[in-house]
Amino acid sequence: MDSLFLKPLTEQLERRRTEHLYRERLILDSPQGVEVRIGSETLLAFCSNDYLGLAQHPAVIAAFKAGADRYGVGAGASHLVSGHSAAHHALEEELADFVGAKRALLFSTGYMANLGVMSALCGRETTIFEDRLNHASLIDAARLTRAKVKRYPHADIARLDRLLTDTPGQKFITTDTVFSMDGDMAPLKELHRLAERHGAWLLADDAHGLGVLGKDGRGSLERFGVPLAPPTILMGTLGKAFGVFGAFVAGEEVLIETLIQQARTYIYTTALPPAVAEAVRASLKIVRAESWRRERLGALVARFRQGAQELGFTLMASETPIQPLMLGTAEVALDVSQKLRAQGILVPAIRPPTVPEGSARLRFTFSAAHEFSHVERLLEALATVRQA
Ligand code: PMP
Repeated sequence: MDSLFLKPLTEQLERRRTEHLYRERLILDSPQGVEVRIGSETLLAFCSNDYLGLAQHPAVIAAFKAGADRYGVGAGASHLVSGHSAAHHALEEELADFVGAKRALLFSTGYMANLGVMSALCGRETTIFEDRLNHASLIDAARLTRAKVKRYPHADIARLDRLLTDTPGQKFITTDTVFSMDGDMAPLKELHRLAERHGAWLLADDAHGLGVLGKDGRGSLERFGVPLAPPTILMGTLGKAFGVFGAFVAGEEVLIETLIQQARTYIYTTALPPAVAEAVRASLKIVRAESWRRERLGALVARFRQGAQELGFTLMASETPIQPLMLGTAEVALDVSQKLRAQGILVPAIRPPTVPEGSARLRFTFSAAHEFSHVERLLEALATVRQA
């Protein structure tokens, strides 16, 4: 009997292995940070999304502990039943103030926030327009709505304009603002203009921009001078630059009330632990106050780009902390990742289906917690890979 069920799965797994696409989890024995411990290895990591170095910040940890003392460890219910605490509410107000929106609504994850917004605002009568390189959560969200979906070539505004012109009815555009695997930025200003002109909503997924971009860290909208007002909706995550966990959507009063009534991933799930909200409140204070973290991050990225180019590597056009090195096949990407690991550098290979076939890569990410000497160590290790 077992073989009836398990044999096809085993064969599928074997196929993955021979195609160099098998995924294995690293087991960290240390906190997330620029140095991580895996068993007996201590590795210099260039792969977390802890862009501002807040995941281990003492003030954030203290707020988390105090939150657990005050509220216990679990929310115990969904927001609409009895799980919405003063901690959640205060955080929503502080996030709205930070991004300059009337209201903000917390979700448990960015994945769920994207599903929630699109399931609340789109239906069979909607056409959803997606950049080809959008994050999986935006792709999955469209499926949940049963709307028609049109995918446009990466950042191709002219093509999107034509598609919008040719499509009658309700329209909804969604984009990563910083593309998670490429690090480049969406042409947000042009997207906002198109959305206005065609009467389409624009959901801007700022998972990798919030806290990092803009002088005050208010993200991609600040960076491009795009107002946070209809047609634009902001989705921000709290597990990356904020170093904690969770996500939020920000916009108009009516939009947020609609989400509270209709977003399935808001309604039918347990609220975040209130202590997590307390930790994010502490983190938000640092994001607002310590712009040196963004400046340092920018300087680390600039040094990496200059050094890698001097070594003869061709980097992708990214000015964000996501710096991919395109390698092509999954096998080569795995091989280079392993060679770097042998030199104490941790950067996993990113392979299909996370990225398109033939575009396997190493995705270096930087954190304000890195030292410049860490970047030099990375460059030295890359130099040996180049020679090999
Ligand atoms: N959107 C983008 C662009 C992302 O990169 C991610 C996380 N990888 C998410 C959404 C999902 O966020 P979360 O991890 O909070 O679910």
